[in-house]
Amino acid sequence: MTTTFHSTRSTTDALTSRQAIRQGLASDGGLFVSDELDETKVDVAQLVGEPYQAIARRVLGVLLPDFTVAELDECVGAAYGPQWLDPAITPLKPLGDDYILELFNGPTSAFKDVALQILPQFMARTTASTAISTGASDGKSSGKEKVMVLTATSGDTGKAALAGFADTEGTGITVFYPEGKVSEIQRLQMTTQVGSNVNVCAVKGNFDDAQSAVKAIFGDKGLAKKLEDGNHVTLSSANSINVGRLVPQVVYYFSAYAQLVERGAIKVGDPVEFVVPTGNFGDILAGYYAKRLGLPVGRLTVASDRNNVLFDFLTTGTYNRERPFFETTSPSMDILVSSNLERMLYYFSDGDTELISSLMDDLQTKGSFTIPASLLDRIRTLFSCGWADEDEVSQAIADCWNDNHYVIDPHTACGYHVLGQTARKEAMPRVLLSTASPYKFPRVVGEALGLDTSGSDFACMDRLASATATTAPKNLRGLENAAERFTDVIAIDRMRDYVGDASRRL
Ligand SMILES: *Cc1c(COP(=O)(O)O)cnc(C)c1O
Repeated sequence: MTTTFHSTRSTTDALTSRQAIRQGLASDGGLFVSDELDETKVDVAQLVGEPYQAIARRVLGVLLPDFTVAELDECVGAAYGPQWLDPAITPLKPLGDDYILELFNGPTSAFKDVALQILPQFMARTTASTAISTGASDGKSSGKEKVMVLTATSGDTGKAALAGFADTEGTGITVFYPEGKVSEIQRLQMTTQVGSNVNVCAVKGNFDDAQSAVKAIFGDKGLAKKLEDGNHVTLSSANSINVGRLVPQVVYYFSAYAQLVERGAIKVGDPVEFVVPTGNFGDILAGYYAKRLGLPVGRLTVASDRNNVLFDFLTTGTYNRERPFFETTSPSMDILVSSNLERMLYYFSDGDTELISSLMDDLQTKGSFTIPASLLDRIRTLFSCGWADEDEVSQAIADCWNDNHYVIDPHTACGYHVLGQTARKEAMPRVLLSTASPYKFPRVVGEALGLDTSGSDFACMDRLASATATTAPKNLRGLENAAERFTDVIAIDRMRDYVGDASRRL
């Protein structure tokens, strides 16, 4: 099959999936989409009883058709192996009358591992210099070019990207985080990262400063040429708008469904609702992709925190980023511009690139856009929404523990609150996606459960473990005694040189 990718804002590009992964973002600022998304369906009945890895090979084979079966085998084998705490990779568990899908059993205890364990495998099988070219090459690596992945992080993405790219052939990774603005656990997760190709550096500024500087480095043609000519290095991004981060997430929707069938909760063909703690809209968009591939998804519910820009959008049709920004207890959902929403709008408008282009232009220039009422109606036939403020998050953590004896983190708690707020639609089973281990946020969770939260985050972890008879993942508890490798703190205007030096060492 000849799936090609172009921008959500124009149809001029025709890239292979390899090239789209390598390039990340379309040159007009749009996101890569393919118009053949629902041409090949995945036969759900065949997945029941299969291990996660087999489901991944099946689903990824449809979404990334220019990768060979052997290549996908290698990628899946490397990404979903013993580094996961549960052999099911994303186990489904009952939660009262509903179900919870644990996405946090990977090496950094956050759902981003699902995508960032495999993205480096994809990336290692592409090359930068051919990605933007005229199509003379299919984007396969010729061996000598290397990729330096740059990421500015507010906490979770940086560590998951480091763990994924560490010691991956032909790649390097550089992570910048804002000094003093990430939690103690998050900082230690990054500064103790092992691997010969990893670089971690604190910067003096906030996350937005770091993010803007990274974007400026990507746009620096002079630096790009110097690194390419002198060192055979091209810069790339592990941001969640990359196709290579989106498609691995489609797999766990199929896995969840297969597990529901295995439990006897549904028969193949029955619709299921998914409730998804949402920030950049990548996780829930993957659920929509699953539906396009034939999964019986009955409803997709967006759960937001106090930064409820998506709730307002899905309620009124107006997306308005001009609003106060709240730093909440669910930092990975503190987002005002949900980038992946653009892909959903593309598909629901039947590929109207002109409309998408003008909406995104409005967002850029006026800070808001409004979609036609008919489009909103169509979106609302599938998407529902809710949100939780911080008191409700805390209450949800306590309620979930008291009602089910199951501990959830503050992000998942937004979804749990929304479950409680909304009625089950026509007796449809509901699956709450759990996006982080509660042990990543032991202080917030401890407070919600009324535990003593004096002392270090590690003391909080130990009290959480004994109060709930659960165990802290070793990757988090072991940080207390791990050696810190990276102590650099630099000014924002030194980031470009830091990237240059790191690239020359590759
Ligand atoms: C990134 C993240 C989210 C949000 O996922 P999106 O794909 O950005 O919507 C939710 N919870 C946690 C813990 C995360 O790390």
